[in-house]
Amino acid sequence: MRINSFSTGFIEIPGQISMNIFTQGCSIKCKKCHNPELQNFNDGIEFDWAAFDKNLQPVEFSPWICWLGGEPTEHLNDLRQFNKNLKKLGYFIALYSGRTFEELQDLKILDDLDLIKTGRYDGYSVQNPKTTQRFYYRNYADYKNCSWVTCNYENLECDINRFIIDKNKG
Ligand code: SF4
Repeated sequence: MRINSFSTGFIEIPGQISMNIFTQGCSIKCKKCHNPELQNFNDGIEFDWAAFDKNLQPVEFSPWICWLGGEPTEHLNDLRQFNKNLKKLGYFIALYSGRTFEELQDLKILDDLDLIKTGRYDGYSVQNPKTTQRFYYRNYADYKNCSWVTCNYENLECDINRFIIDKNKG
């Protein structure tokens, strides 16, 4: 998997702190791409996931990992494998993707995710009510059916708190 950078995130998961991982490479080509420097598949560095994986500790301080890009699902096999390992260590996993929810379903990448931001970038930030991008979070209150709930950014902090309570109950 090619990586551009890591950062600590304070806004991607409202009310939570996340470790953000920016992947390199994207073929979606949204008209108003806000990260054009992350489109080129040859930039960034090839990350030694085996070493990272070996040194990753079970969750203690911030339980959220957030994938962004670029388009993280361009590295599908690595993403699936890494998410499985993160899940075993107790992390919550978020994915910021330019794909639609249905496209992500077709890619069979939803299994280990807890929160998703979907949709092509349309020039509006996720905080802007005009955006067509949507958030989905896993409905742990209905864990058996593995269903998802959609919401906009405005309601996300409150929904995430409820989601964490439901997850802990389960
Ligand atoms: S998905 Fe992200 S990186 Fe890819 S074209 Fe759209 S805004 Fe740019």
